[in-house]
Amino acid sequence: MAAPPAIPRRGLFIGGGWREPTLGRRIPVINPATEDTIGDIPAATAEDVELAVAAARSAFLLDGGSRWARASGATRAKYLNAIAAKVPISCVSLNLRPEVRCIHVHRKVRRMHGVAEAPLSHRRIKEKISYLAWLETVDSGKPKDEAVADMDDVAACFEFYAGLAEALDGKQHAPISLPMEEFKTYVLKEPIGVVGLITPWNYPLLMATWKVAPALAAGCTAVLKPSELASLTCLELGAICEEIGLPSGVLNIITGLGPDAGAPIASHPHVDKIAFTGSTATGKTIMTAAAQMVKPVSLELGGKSPLVIFDDVADIDKAVEWAVFGCFFNSGQVCSATSRLLLHEKIAERFLDRLVEWAKNIKISDPLEEGCRLGSVISKGQYEKIKKFISTARSEGATILHGGDRPKHLGKGFFIEPTIITDVSTSMQIWREEVFGPVICVKVFKTESEAVELANDTHYGLAGGVISDDLQRCERIAKVIHSGIVWINCSQPTLVQAPWGGNKRSGFGRELGEWGLENYLSVKQVTRYCKDELYGWYQRPSKL
Ligand code: NAD
Repeated sequence: MAAPPAIPRRGLFIGGGWREPTLGRRIPVINPATEDTIGDIPAATAEDVELAVAAARSAFLLDGGSRWARASGATRAKYLNAIAAKVPISCVSLNLRPEVRCIHVHRKVRRMHGVAEAPLSHRRIKEKISYLAWLETVDSGKPKDEAVADMDDVAACFEFYAGLAEALDGKQHAPISLPMEEFKTYVLKEPIGVVGLITPWNYPLLMATWKVAPALAAGCTAVLKPSELASLTCLELGAICEEIGLPSGVLNIITGLGPDAGAPIASHPHVDKIAFTGSTATGKTIMTAAAQMVKPVSLELGGKSPLVIFDDVADIDKAVEWAVFGCFFNSGQVCSATSRLLLHEKIAERFLDRLVEWAKNIKISDPLEEGCRLGSVISKGQYEKIKKFISTARSEGATILHGGDRPKHLGKGFFIEPTIITDVSTSMQIWREEVFGPVICVKVFKTESEAVELANDTHYGLAGGVISDDLQRCERIAKVIHSGIVWINCSQPTLVQAPWGGNKRSGFGRELGEWGLENYLSVKQVTRYCKDELYGWYQRPSKL
């Protein structure tokens, strides 16, 4: 068996190049499935943020903005497509550095002659999906198959926003219809400026891409701060940007701890907007910092989403599979996880029996192992937090119907069995708070209105699902669930074309789709007075 590739030792990606953090600090990278230290990442501080913001600002302003911010959307689209590797790069139109041009020419020749692929360091996302997925797996503990799907989504997201960047050109100068003739008005959509993008660890590169791709498509320049718990693939994105010759400073990547590297971005006077995904607690801190400068923020925060299952479902297993997918995928470390399961009383017992059978059938293993469907959670801290949630539920009187512990066959790594908790009351912590682990809590209902009341019994409002063979009932419930996303007869499909985001304490603003692009655009009204005569409000003074 070939030895696994080495974990690259990278610096901070600032101004198109790599530099060590000013204070020289680094953070160890721990593979959560083995507990081994496998590398380290730079620990940036305010000094580095200063450099990154300065680089982003000069890239935004370079040549009056004509190099990036005011370049055509079609120009920016070429870079986004190049990151994904959708189309062969036209070196000339991208103004690549000569040495990079050579790489691409060599690659073309290699392909023509059937010679081996380019070295990893010279490949883009689609060309190194399996490597990036491997890196994501050893960094985060997620099953390899999930990481591969994530990387496919990353490439698709860059391509999608390349399309929207191109379409943006046709939307400029949109005329506004006015009820008078002396004025003519049109609208320009302009990039907001330098944006700070602060992201979590559950989908490290994908969550970053949901922000980087639309921000760059809009013409913003950015400072990305991924989570200190999983930054490796985001640093590889820096290498890809370097490889394709993205203009220096358009994307800067700063790794480090939240208070040291994230907080200075949120409070920086030259960062024009913050887009944040993470916990509600950090979201509040970021909003407070940004408020001091009346800086716009968009927040994608936590959730405690319900999945309501009615007694009319003909195929119980089909519904059970969605319940399993909804809460155990990515070890339940999903903001939209449907972690509150509401079962109609007539099917509850049968459903729970099957749920336990399906849970027992999930392959829990080293996430690199073939067929793994439940890996480890991200860290020791998260492992202990989840275990505490389970013990508190038990002490508050709930029943651990299945799981609740480390799988017996895995002595090392931060693994937790898929856990099903019943006899839950609405005052219990397990009902009210986000666990962010493979833990589902269950309540039984009698009527549709009781189901809706329970579904909405949360401070969060990210997502919700309903499973029933009565589609009219599903549509009815979709309207009254207080959340930004509702799934009918499924849970968790995430589509780059459709809006994503929450209500209540799950945050505000929408990512993905055209809404994701709007997050980074500022709307400018341009109005022209077009009559030859004076406007005539004031009396013209005499000429004497
Ligand atoms: P977190 O809030 O601990 O950290 C998120 C990011 O914020 C990290 O990069 C962290 O370093 C940074 N950070 C921490 N303190 C900071 C500070 N004071 N100032 C600036 N930045 C700071 O969240 P997490 O543990 O990484 O992620 C899990 C949370 O993310 C869960 O609550 C989950 O629901 C949420 N999430 C939401 C979505 C969504 O789309 N709504 C998606 C994924 C994750």
